[in-house]
Amino acid sequence: MFSRRSNALPALLNSAACFAVLTFVICAGADPNLPRQAPSVIEGEPPREDMADDSGPEPARGAGETPSEESPPPRVCLDPGHPSEPGDKLFEALINRKVAFYLAELLSSAGYETFITVDDLSPEELEDIDFEDEELQSRLVPVWLEQRAALCNAWGADITISIHHNHSPIGYLNHTAIFWGEDAEGTLRHEDAPRLARIAEHHLARAMATRGSRLGSDQAYLRFSLTVLEQSASTAILTEASFYSNPAERRRLKRDHYLRKEAEAIFASIEEYFSKIDEEAAAQ
Ligand SMILES: [Zn+2]
Repeated sequence: MFSRRSNALPALLNSAACFAVLTFVICAGADPNLPRQAPSVIEGEPPREDMADDSGPEPARGAGETPSEESPPPRVCLDPGHPSEPGDKLFEALINRKVAFYLAELLSSAGYETFITVDDLSPEELEDIDFEDEELQSRLVPVWLEQRAALCNAWGADITISIHHNHSPIGYLNHTAIFWGEDAEGTLRHEDAPRLARIAEHHLARAMATRGSRLGSDQAYLRFSLTVLEQSASTAILTEASFYSNPAERRRLKRDHYLRKEAEAIFASIEEYFSKIDEEAAAQ
């Protein structure tokens, strides 16, 4: 059972730790000749012993565990997508960061431990943000996809949520899509990820009031593996809450209360997921 005791550890502290981590990432990212390899050791945030080996996916910690008062709070790693290369989807990147910021606040106040894979903007800058501001966009630091997964793995995440918004040349498209990882043979990367994805789809599609939803593995839906899902050691999903290429949706996504609503929907999904795990553990 996961204990969600009141935890004063704010998202900002996690962000501060992340900044120390990203000192390496930023330096590595500046040199295109460096190999695209994730750091094996992360400074300032020692990997937990039970998750230190990031050589392969593991089932969600907690499933099948004996409930215990001493169980630590769940660790939720948030990965606001983009840029993974310079100039990569900067408008979306800002939206993703703001949703992750609100989500981290909600999780921290509910007793979860959180970690955010990017930390290039301060909370003050995120507070009152112009998503179209090109100067602000130009300050976003690329973090390679492999590094995003490695950061969550080394931190010892129990689940990883990669936060995205979708785009299409077809302007009217606007639906919610949630992915989990699968290899080319159809083997799940994380046994419990479809369950987390289904819960998230239910909450997000309702919150965003999109025209329906799509749910599936990255192989089935996209015909290729999403790196963050493929390389995540913890149960991982990727959320595409809505399409910012839809003009009306793009306007909605710039509104603060709308992004809070999205963060609340993901938060409700995480709560429901861990509640089900707790119930199953208690029933055993
Ligand atoms: Zn994206």
